[in-house]
Amino acid sequence: MFEDLKPAPADKILALIGLYRADERPNKVDLGVGVYKDNAGKTPVMRAVREAEKRLLADQDSKSYLGLAGDTAFNEAMAKLVFGANADTTRIRAAQTPGGSGALRLVAELLKHARPDATVWVSDPTWVNHIAILRAAGLQVREYPYFDAETGTVRFDAMLAALKGAPAGDVILLHGCCHNPTGANLDASQWTAVAGLLVEKNLLPFIDIAYQGFGDGLDADAEGLRIVAAKVPEMVVAASCSKNFAVYRDRVGAAMVMTANAAQADIASSQMLAGARTLYSMPPDHGAAAVRMVLQDPALRADWQAELEEMRQRMLLLRQRFAEALRRQSNSDRFDFIAGHRGMFSRLGLTESQVQRLREEHAVYMVSDSRINVAGLPENGLEELAKAVVSVLD
Ligand code: PMP
Repeated sequence: MFEDLKPAPADKILALIGLYRADERPNKVDLGVGVYKDNAGKTPVMRAVREAEKRLLADQDSKSYLGLAGDTAFNEAMAKLVFGANADTTRIRAAQTPGGSGALRLVAELLKHARPDATVWVSDPTWVNHIAILRAAGLQVREYPYFDAETGTVRFDAMLAALKGAPAGDVILLHGCCHNPTGANLDASQWTAVAGLLVEKNLLPFIDIAYQGFGDGLDADAEGLRIVAAKVPEMVVAASCSKNFAVYRDRVGAAMVMTANAAQADIASSQMLAGARTLYSMPPDHGAAAVRMVLQDPALRADWQAELEEMRQRMLLLRQRFAEALRRQSNSDRFDFIAGHRGMFSRLGLTESQVQRLREEHAVYMVSDSRINVAGLPENGLEELAKAVVSVLD
């Protein structure tokens, strides 16, 4: 059966990790893989999550099944975190999923069920797994223009023009905040314009929010999503807790659907859960239970927010200081956009061969599209790093 199988193509980022590990140069810099890192290069368990886990260990009296939707209190808390503490959630249903990836797939299954010939429009570029997950669910994928590599900004007019041309009933995938891989985001007025267009053209927003709290703050990062939610009759959302609760390997996320009324929401939710049944049945409990405890307990929640805010501020400072170092080293404002970007990533706009030279000549590792993980920038080596980047420019 397996004799003719060809190996699956290697994951570019995982391959990069292997190269980085094998590199013996002491000053090597890892800007590749997409996990938050502190100044020591560690991805720690957050304090509030650790405390919640202790309580869970002490108090949990059963590991019996919870059901297809997972932890319902987690789902309610997540809907409030994403749509807002005072949001009316009567038309919204959420299902706990294995990570944001599980949420994306579950939403994709729902879309396929509701409209088998639906096309999902994704930004050019987008997180590569978006395209793979959507296609795996049998959906068509098209791209809308998004990033201008020359200026490091959003090609907003081109984006709007493409969305205007999308047929009614198509789905538009938007990054809620902290765009991966570019770091370039829509501002509030651009979100408002997009929301208006979605309503006018009868397009369904599909918002992936995987970095809430990593950009401008927990509520600020959901502002675009909330602008859209206030205008459209229906939308779908995939949320991830991997980054903002640092529970990557525990697999915590939520798929959400907002419909025209509560009765439709119940039906859509039942279809989403039927999808879960054949994909993985029920989501893993541990991480979501810890996240639920953090969100429900005022003291744990305050501590989580404080730690998340420290992480966000650290990334912001690194952005500013790296942009300044690049300004000094390049004698130009070419890289100023890095300070204006938000989230864990920025795309530097280098060619593949420049990225390769950085790796070979300077032990600086980044994805071949020149995406850097801002959290991996070395606090005490920014000037040297900027010098290396400028040295490969020509
Ligand atoms: N969406 C985006 C844009 C992401 O970058 C990621 C993680 N890299 C995810 C969703 C899903 O993350 P996870 O499945 O680990 O929660």
